[in-house]
Amino acid sequence: MTQQVNVAKFGGTSVANFATIVNCAAVVKQNPATRVVVVSAAAGITNLLVKLAFTPLSQADIAEVVEQIKTIEYNILNHLDNVQSIEPKLIDLLNEVSELAYHEEILHRLDLKDQLLSMGERMSSLLCSEVFKQQGIPALNFDVRKVLITDDTYGEASPELDEINTRAKAIMAPDLATSVLVTQGFVGADSNGNTTTLGRGGSDFTAALLAEALNAKSCEIWTDVIGVYTTDPRITQAARPLPELSFEEAAEMATFGAKVLHPATMEPALRADIPVFVGSSSEPEKGGTWIVRDCEVEPPYRAITRRREQVMVTVKTPKMLYAQGYLEKVFGIIAKHKLSVDLVTTSEIAISFTLDNPPNSVAERLNKQTIAELETMSEVTVEKGFDLVTVVGNHMQTTKGVSSRIFAAISDYNLRMICFGANPHNMSFLVNETDSAEIVTVLHQSLFE
Ligand code: ADP
Ligand code: ASP
Ligand code: MG
Repeated sequence: MTQQVNVAKFGGTSVANFATIVNCAAVVKQNPATRVVVVSAAAGITNLLVKLAFTPLSQADIAEVVEQIKTIEYNILNHLDNVQSIEPKLIDLLNEVSELAYHEEILHRLDLKDQLLSMGERMSSLLCSEVFKQQGIPALNFDVRKVLITDDTYGEASPELDEINTRAKAIMAPDLATSVLVTQGFVGADSNGNTTTLGRGGSDFTAALLAEALNAKSCEIWTDVIGVYTTDPRITQAARPLPELSFEEAAEMATFGAKVLHPATMEPALRADIPVFVGSSSEPEKGGTWIVRDCEVEPPYRAITRRREQVMVTVKTPKMLYAQGYLEKVFGIIAKHKLSVDLVTTSEIAISFTLDNPPNSVAERLNKQTIAELETMSEVTVEKGFDLVTVVGNHMQTTKGVSSRIFAAISDYNLRMICFGANPHNMSFLVNETDSAEIVTVLHQSLFE
């Protein structure tokens, strides 16, 4: 492929209704290199699908949720010029939603849950590609499952990179000269063809994976904010957009809770050295953030993030005293369950660590098993109600005064755990969830205002 491609991704609020999808079309037209468009489900749809897939509901409640989904989708469909020709395709997809929602095994089978969760993106790509066509874009609705091959960890599937690269070049690239492929974020398929999903917010990751596979020159993430901010603008109005960020800084921010990017998004971008742009699809003229390999300035403080719903696990046993290999056993159990630990502290007889625990996630389910296994060897305490606050920056562990400045700003608050020094790009602390917004606000004031 000689053409230089841009992959553009539009999030849920960007494809929420007909008018916002028209804005997306304008963004696509503005950059002739945009040949692949990755779309999320319309805002609210994935949450409704999660409700159907994870909560025991009465038949009447199921019907109501299905109706809510239908209303959002029809609200887009009804604006099309060719409603009659597209409606049958939407009806097929809505029927699939119903069949899965009423399936007697839906609450117990992870493969069915993923099939159901994928429906939001499948409906969205159908409708977005039609709106795009009406706006003069040579759009083609493309089923990402032909290309985005993953393992079969339903709910949190890992991409099979070689397979994705080969397939994208063989199946997608030849069409890019003549068409704009509109495809589903968040969705994949395992090697048996079963539908998988990449975890909540996974559409950003899809865009970066396709950009890598197609040797794209850029990847644009279009959302509801005009870039990556110094902190979540929903926490403090003082947050401001950053013109530039490094891959490392963005990866830290995403990992530690900046929801604007899925945590894995930067991995493909970093491997293939593809600049990532973040901007607002409703205000593209306001510019946005460029995430690149090397930034002109590397400030010690770049941003503050918050990750919610953290669980602190303490494993305590006198056997640890002078014992060797104990840490290995504890972390062996955690690794076996594919859980990622963020903060760790150890003492003579105890290890404490934090785990992410969003409701309905694979992590929550595995945590229960992990903890049961840990209990076979030690006394285990699990404490909830924490958030993780992280200051992201550069050369933090070798810059004088970094920790004292941060601690001075938040001296009024109780910090349960602190992690600093392992990495030049962050300092994290575990705090009570009721304090976290204030802590972020106060820190922001001290470091950036
Ligand atoms: P999309 O549906 O487009 O993927 P998301 O809701 O996943 O959008 O991500 C955008 C949201 O991320 C913003 O509305 C904002 O509240 C939140 N966010 C959290 N941290 C940041 C940050 N540092 N910069 C910008 N937005 C952030
Ligand atoms: N629709 C999915 C979600 O809400 C994926 C995404 O939007 O990135 O999590
Ligand atoms: Mg998102």
